Amino acid sequence: MVTLSNINKSYQVGKNKLHVLKGVNMHIQPGEFVSIMGSSGSGKSTLLNILGILDDYDSGDYTLGGTLIKNLNQAKAAQYRNRFIGFVFQSFNLLSFKNALENVALPLYYQGVTRKDRNKIALEYLDRVGLKDWASHLPSEMSGGQKQRVAIARALISKPKMILADEPTGALDSVTSMEVMKLFKEVHKEGMTMIVVTHENDIAAMTDRVIRIKDGAIEVPEKLTAQ
Ligand code: ADP
Ligand code: MG
Repeated sequence: MVTLSNINKSYQVGKNKLHVLKGVNMHIQPGEFVSIMGSSGSGKSTLLNILGILDDYDSGDYTLGGTLIKNLNQAKAAQYRNRFIGFVFQSFNLLSFKNALENVALPLYYQGVTRKDRNKIALEYLDRVGLKDWASHLPSEMSGGQKQRVAIARALISKPKMILADEPTGALDSVTSMEVMKLFKEVHKEGMTMIVVTHENDIAAMTDRVIRIKDGAIEVPEKLTAQ
């Protein structure tokens, strides 16, 4: 699904260049459920933003589902992003003046689906995350866990090939975090490729493979270096 070859990314900070990703190599199979771990500032979000075609990189190659994602103009980047990727963020990123149903339906609005159709589909997705009865509630009337479920339904509604989640449980208590991860597991069981950034061990332990990033590069697992 995803292949990164020797990805480099720097930010210009004033007069200085901050080299954040230093030759990242990564291969993720279709249908894998992986976590990306690393300390704060190690480049996890930078990496996820590149994977999500939200940001570009300086050198290397990123292939997504057989398509080289490189030097895309904004329209092409948006087209691939909308077709391939669903996002879940730590801060939920729901529109505060829209109710749960309208938030979930939003990607379909941008696809030009009629209001009647998108509301019907959005209700199915809300039902799937256990929030059918909360359709008319505003985000401010919902708990953190409920808000994240709405965000997950919104990520799923455009039928992406891959879900990218940046610290999706970072704002949730441990019980709610586990509920969100259980929902991710269910989605993964249906065949979704899932990449979850976290710095919590118990969250990473719920994924099938842990990828560790340190000093801007992927750490090679010990069993490979031991040989
Ligand atoms: P993580 O998500 O692992 O905490 P980030 O990818 O957010 O790490 O950041 C990696 C490094 O890049 C940090 O030192 C951060 O300050 C820096 N950084 C991130 N985004 C920008 C930006 N837009 N401009 C300049 N520096 C940035
Ligand atoms: Mg981050």
